[in-house]
Amino acid sequence: MVKAFGGVRVLNGVSMDVRAREVVVVVGPSGSGKTTFLRCLNHLESIDEGEILVHGRRVGYKDGLDRLVEERPRAIAARRRNIGFVFQRFNLFPHLSALDNVAVAPVKVLGVPKAEAREQAQALLARVGLAHKASSRPSVLSGGQQQRVAIARALAMKPELMLFDEPTSALDPEMVGEVVTVMKELVEDGLTMIVVTHEMGFARSAADRLVMFDQGVILEEGTPEKLMTDPDHQRTRAFLRRID
Ligand code: ATP
Repeated sequence: MVKAFGGVRVLNGVSMDVRAREVVVVVGPSGSGKTTFLRCLNHLESIDEGEILVHGRRVGYKDGLDRLVEERPRAIAARRRNIGFVFQRFNLFPHLSALDNVAVAPVKVLGVPKAEAREQAQALLARVGLAHKASSRPSVLSGGQQQRVAIARALAMKPELMLFDEPTSALDPEMVGEVVTVMKELVEDGLTMIVVTHEMGFARSAADRLVMFDQGVILEEGTPEKLMTDPDHQRTRAFLRRID
């Protein structure tokens, strides 16, 4: 796919095929296009060239005459429902309790009855180790706790794909571990995940594939072991050495 901002190609021919239950970790220098890539997958940005296929079906793309094809708002919303997005900065609703943060979308978007959604939300908070914080507002939670609520909130929509955009980079170092632990549990549960992160411990133990972005293209990809021990590109070696 290609994505440009003001004529500058931020993604310049990125192609990726993700299997069900696959865990892909994306790394790369600042400005290489990692966040933009996730935003395009989640239709927070439209792409300028190329296509996105879900279960072999082509979804929102532009044709040669720059006309949007199959890009109707309702169709986009339906697809976005199946993709969970965990942001670097949590983005929780500040006026809602942890429980309501998790329960609100299933009620409003999926029409799940309130009592049922709250029950599911309580179970999801327990899954991320926060059953005891259900009634707390985000402002009284630590960064690590807020990010775990954000993960539970994304899971509440029962997504087919989870996207994580540097989920630990806004956290104090002592809180990184608790979020990484939750993410590893999701891997064990068989979720399909694309994770932008520089947590190489997570990549090493959980990723099926490590992808190195550089200047809007995939410079190199392979198993974490291959890229970490025997990369084809000197830039990959230098970058991974710097962040590990
Ligand atoms: P980082 O690791 O710093 O988050 P990144 O690899 O995620 O970087 P992106 O955030 O995708 O990179 O940005 C890629 C390039 O696109 C950058 O040069 C950025 O300035 C530019 N860019 C991103 N979003 C926009 C936008 N909405 N308008 C204009 N330029 C943008």
